[in-house]
Amino acid sequence: MTLLALAAAKAMMASSAFVLPLAKAADRVLGPRGCCLTFHRIARSEQWAHLPNRDFYVDADFLDRFLGYVLDQGWDVVTISEALRRAAGVEPAGRYVNFSIDDCYRDTFELLVPVFRRHNVPVTLFVTTGIPDGTLPLWAAGLEDALLHRDRLWIDGEHIALSSAEQRRAVFAQVAAGWDGPQAAGCYAAFCAANAIDIDAMHWTHAISWDMLEALARDPLVEIGAHTVSHARISSLPPEAALHELADARLRLNQRLGLDVQHFAFPYGRAADCGPRDFALARQAGFASAATTRKGLVHAGQDAFSIPRNTMNGAHRSLAAMELHLTGLSGTAARVMGRV
Ligand SMILES: [Zn+2]
Repeated sequence: MTLLALAAAKAMMASSAFVLPLAKAADRVLGPRGCCLTFHRIARSEQWAHLPNRDFYVDADFLDRFLGYVLDQGWDVVTISEALRRAAGVEPAGRYVNFSIDDCYRDTFELLVPVFRRHNVPVTLFVTTGIPDGTLPLWAAGLEDALLHRDRLWIDGEHIALSSAEQRRAVFAQVAAGWDGPQAAGCYAAFCAANAIDIDAMHWTHAISWDMLEALARDPLVEIGAHTVSHARISSLPPEAALHELADARLRLNQRLGLDVQHFAFPYGRAADCGPRDFALARQAGFASAATTRKGLVHAGQDAFSIPRNTMNGAHRSLAAMELHLTGLSGTAARVMGRV
């Protein structure tokens, strides 16, 4: 298919005129199914447009509208535990959706969980324990914050003047692509030093704290899972180091929150990031399930250690785009295009 035809197909799929009738057909054809959705951060609508890394954030108003929509359409919003019970046939399946938030930032506590409370539905938080422990440099959040609030910055030895939101987005994309990888922490530390940014204060501007997590752990609507210690790509580690990332995160959550954490989500989560060896390690670490970011739906008999999840891209603020996930079409398209 040519690029032009692909773009046309994508535009057609995102229009409600095309997608909503498909949703009705999917309900008749597919019957019982679950859809796990995941994202990282949330921002107020008025802030969202200005954010240099805005695709990483779901707009709070849109999330509120989408939650209302799925409930109106008769979907049940469930925890991962409940989704697994339904997939195993322990409870009647119906149509169910799970929302999970990976990493966990301060906005999870301040802005995100309150949206779910307003609708009285559960949400799953997959915590990277290096964030509340202050051991994982939140370089993307710090870079973005500086780009948003400063007019000029020293970046990798260059003095850069910042103007429009669009230019800040372009600078973020370029710098983040250059930093991404094992060198990110060093690049970020040098960037903070060059721009007189207090790296600790910046961390706690964006990180979730253990105090916040303690409060969330007491909320019956919040299910807490693990997402490694240092947000490592598990498939890239030797078995022992990989097992540590899984087991130590589980232990840390137990020590700090007193929880016997059952569920895990693989960082990055695509086929190259976690495979059969890693699914077995998750079981060995004591988890009852592990989730990926391979797109698709949960059906009866779903393997608990390779749960598909559909990432909500912040740029797609339409119910039609969300229906592509709920109908499983986004997963089908990803498989056709080899993006697994
Ligand atoms: Zn993550």
